[in-house]
Amino acid sequence: MSVKSGSLYSRIPRLEQIPFLIHGFGIRKWKEDDYQNSPERKDFKPVFLDQIHSDIIQVIDNIPEEKLKGDAMITGLPFLLLIIKTADCLPVLIVDESQKMVAAVHCGWRGTSKRVVQKVIQRMKDLYGCHPSSLLAALGPCIGHECYEVGENVYHSFEQEGLSTESFQNHPLRRGKYLFDLKEANLSQMVSVGVEEKNVFSADICTHCHENLPSFRRDKDKAGRTLSFIGMSS
Ligand SMILES: [Zn+2]
Repeated sequence: MSVKSGSLYSRIPRLEQIPFLIHGFGIRKWKEDDYQNSPERKDFKPVFLDQIHSDIIQVIDNIPEEKLKGDAMITGLPFLLLIIKTADCLPVLIVDESQKMVAAVHCGWRGTSKRVVQKVIQRMKDLYGCHPSSLLAALGPCIGHECYEVGENVYHSFEQEGLSTESFQNHPLRRGKYLFDLKEANLSQMVSVGVEEKNVFSADICTHCHENLPSFRRDKDKAGRTLSFIGMSS
């Protein structure tokens, strides 16, 4: 991961090599000015979702007139910026270099238990013939597994969906509690549908430990959100 000094976003070097792609993961709370004052993004139309911790995927093939509900977007259109807002949840950005498709996904534990990222990859494959093995994916800053305590309900929701529970560890001190590795759970879903682990890049920052980043667990309603984006210029 690279963070240029003075930058508001961290970037994945492998994705920076793609000439038609822009992307970034916010490294502090989002302010509208940060976004509007960027020359890099001035030609792009931002697309936000009304995020609801679902597995609803919006395929954007024309510019939406109103805010769409859901937790993932896929597009092949240039000059759109797919934007995900998070505070502890995992933002995932995906690109298919040869088919020129991009996706952005919001993965909290609920979306992860509904396999949202897995469904996005399946949809890219079914609709556009993307090969999972040639997709590149970037996992942004999220709450780290050492800080992410969850209860039995979360564990059981994974069990009920027939998902692996390998990303849960018994809490060392608290009975009936687990530490949940959100990043690992999503990585394993991606690999299970053919994404290659070597093509998944990760920003190893825990939002809960990093005071500049918004953390809902730490700051509750005062947390604010950070913003991650991906788009294509041609
Ligand atoms: Zn942490």
